[in-house]
Amino acid sequence: MIKSDFLLSVIVPAFDEEENISFFLKRALPVLKKYDYELIFVDDGSSDKTAEKIKAYAKKNARIKLIRFSRNFGHQMALTAGYRHAKGDAVITIDADLQDPPELIEDMVSKWQKGYEVVYAKRRTREESLFKRLTAFLFYRFINLLSDVPIPTDVGDYRLLDRKVVDVLNRLPEHSRFLRGLTSWVGFKQAFVYFDRNKRQYGQTHYPLSKMISFAVEGLTSFSTKPLTYITYLGLLTSMIGFLGIIYALYRRLFLPPEYYITGWTAIFVAVLFIGGVQMIMLGIMGEYLGRIYREVQNRPHFVIKEKINI
Ligand code: UDP
Ligand code: MG
Repeated sequence: MIKSDFLLSVIVPAFDEEENISFFLKRALPVLKKYDYELIFVDDGSSDKTAEKIKAYAKKNARIKLIRFSRNFGHQMALTAGYRHAKGDAVITIDADLQDPPELIEDMVSKWQKGYEVVYAKRRTREESLFKRLTAFLFYRFINLLSDVPIPTDVGDYRLLDRKVVDVLNRLPEHSRFLRGLTSWVGFKQAFVYFDRNKRQYGQTHYPLSKMISFAVEGLTSFSTKPLTYITYLGLLTSMIGFLGIIYALYRRLFLPPEYYITGWTAIFVAVLFIGGVQMIMLGIMGEYLGRIYREVQNRPHFVIKEKINI
């Protein structure tokens, strides 16, 4: 069999994916066999038999490798761990649930061979719930409105990175790892391949609404300080309105007869609630950035590994 003259690393984050592992391998291995490859599973603290399943395959095939986290550290950290351990000249990240078709790897590799250093797999269509499609649509548009670097729309974490790019990512010390933004931030020559996103093979999504919201906030605060600027503008605007209100109130108090200034409850009530609400939001936004600084200063390791196999 003719093998490639380069090493291809494929990183698969897996969190409670026991039913998907063998299906994934059944589809991925025929593609990977064309290359000199390593397949790195990162078990993100699964509580089911994900790790046992992978270990059984790893015993028979030394190219299948496993990193196990001591608990669930999240998808982006699983990818980060994969990037740290990948040895390949080209490194692909792909989901374990077969929503990212492994057959696309060939297209990605040939783009890479043409000289592109970042190849994104872009979703043409999505076979998912209306809610997921709508929130994803809004997420990508909104984040690009605010972000300082353009973040490609409808692109998930299915992508190929050249060795050079992986080395740059591995040197970035930050703890908030919004990899979709970081891979755009690093620059280099970027290209797209297109695919239709299928439904999950088995199991449920691990991104419920609450996780989606914190993911979106993470993405925003990682790549933009515009919210901080906007709250300053909003503060200016509300204090201007407040100032006009003060002049108006004083005018009524000083120059009009008493029956004019006993009324005015509504105005006070509305003003207090409005200013209070605006201030709360502003504090919240500042708090988000403060929290990020706090996490960076703590400087804890990004993840904890409890076991490595074939690595
Ligand atoms: N995943 C992970 N850790 C998590 C959540 C998800 O490693 O905390 C993995 C999961 O096993 C899958 C990939 O990340 O391989 C994408 O997750 P999922 O399919 O749940 O997200 P969706 O495709 O619904 O956005
Ligand atoms: Mg999925």
